[in-house]
Order: sequence, then C-alpha cells, then structure tokens
Amino acid sequence: MEELLDPGLGQVRVFMKHDDNKPRKLRYNLGHHRLLTFGGAYSNHIRAVAEAGARHGIETIGVIRGEEHLPLNPSLARAAACGMTLTYLDRAAYRRKHTEEVQARLRARWGDDVVILPEGGSNAAAVRGCAELPGEISEDYDVICCPVGTGGTLAGISAGLPEGRRALGFAVLKGAGFLEGEVARLQREAFGRTWPNWSINLDYHFGGYARSTPALDAFAERHGVERIYVAKMLFGLLDLVRQGAFAPGTRIVAVITGRPSTGQERRP
Ligand SMILES: *Cc1c(COP(=O)(O)O)cnc(C)c1O
Repeated sequence: MEELLDPGLGQVRVFMKHDDNKPRKLRYNLGHHRLLTFGGAYSNHIRAVAEAGARHGIETIGVIRGEEHLPLNPSLARAAACGMTLTYLDRAAYRRKHTEEVQARLRARWGDDVVILPEGGSNAAAVRGCAELPGEISEDYDVICCPVGTGGTLAGISAGLPEGRRALGFAVLKGAGFLEGEVARLQREAFGRTWPNWSINLDYHFGGYARSTPALDAFAERHGVERIYVAKMLFGLLDLVRQGAFAPGTRIVAVITGRPSTGQERRP
C-alpha cells in the first residue's frame, strides 16, 4: 500500500489501498446466464456488469435512466462493445425500478429466468464479496475508510473487519441519512446480523451525487483520483484529520475504489 503524504496529516498516517469495488461486488453474482441491472448513463456499475458478462459468458441487459443519446458516451459504448443490450426507462419509471410492477414488466420482456441486480449492485452477494477485502490487508491499521454510494461496500468491509478496527464511510449523496438503515439491512441480508464497528460521515457530499465544487475539482486533480466517489472520501478524511478527529499515531487505510476515467470532466 502506498502512503499518502500530506503535510496536514501530522502524526496520523494514511495508506491507500487500490481496490475496484464494482468487480468485487459482482464476484458472487455471476452464476447466472442472464443478468439485468440499472444505472445512469455514466454508471460504473453498468460498465462493470457488462465487462463481467463478457468475461464469464453471461448475457447482460443494462436498463439506463432517461433517453437514448447517440452517439453513446464512452461508458455506454464500452458496455455495448462488451455485448450488453442497452434499453432505456424514462425518469418516472426509473424511479420505480425496484417496485414489483416495473420488475414484472422487465421479466415479461426479458424472460422469467433473468436475474435482476439492484442499481449500484448492492445485494447480499455483493456484501459477501466486499467482506473479503479486509482479509487481504496484511498491514496494521486502526480505521478503514471508503466512499459510500448505496452502502454495499461499507456493509461488507465492516462485516469482514478484524476485532478492534473500525470502518468509516463518506456518503457521496446529499441527504443520505437513510444509508444507516440500508447498511444494517444489507448486513442482515448477507450475514443475518449487524456490526457496531462502522459509521457514515454525511458532511462531504459537495452538493450531491456527481456534483462538485472548484475546491473538490482542484483536489481531485492534485491527487489524481476519481472524483465522484474517491475525491470526496479523501477530501473528507484529510479535513477530519486536520480537525483533530483522530488521535496522533492512528493508522488509516483509505480504500481507493476506482480510477479516474478519461473524460471524467464531462460527467454530469
Ligand atoms: C459504486 C462506487 C462506490 C460506492 O459503492 P457502494 O457499494 O454503492 O456504496 C464507491 N466508489 C466507486 C469508485 C464506485 O464506482
């Protein structure tokens, strides 16, 4: 793991663990022959499902929010090149995508045997996949941090933590108070219990999902990190360290869950 060197850190040490979370979340979701899932036009999850489908010989269907725009953006073009069938749902129907009614319609169209993954890919299998991450870190640490979108990654990391460590998530959505319940629900679904070793900081959403500010943009640029998730976590973490939120000597692992994409600046 690479150490983050920043004069603001003082006696606190931060290590970066590069680990793409989308493939990890899919690992135990791949034993099917047809997978359908949901996402926005720039969704990392859509692309990860398409790539996994191509690798494992699984038919994939991506249900994209909104209307089709041609030519496809690089993210959707990559999904299509992997063989994913793209279909679109208007925003009103998309909001109801996890309801019985919309899912029944999708099953009628794509077959009863289609396995539907939720948006962002957070289900019990995804949580079990992410629970393997802490076991792959051999260095000593006190706190492990990750960005939080739908909460599956944090739910898994927390479940896999050794005794005495804690997990701290940084929400990238605005008004994400519901995530507390969601992480607990995902842990119960995956393992039949919850863990008391995690918390979510809600203060570094920078206006909401995929929103940014000049300060966050400059930070992402300076550190060369993905900006929708990773930059918000690292910015928040460094800010908390400067405020004295961690005792001197604390060792923190920051999970770098994705890489900056080319064309990142064009993301909505
Ligand atoms: C999807 C994603 C996350 C969020 O993961 P959740 O399990 O939805 O909380 C974090 N970082 C990156 C880079 C992502 O693509």
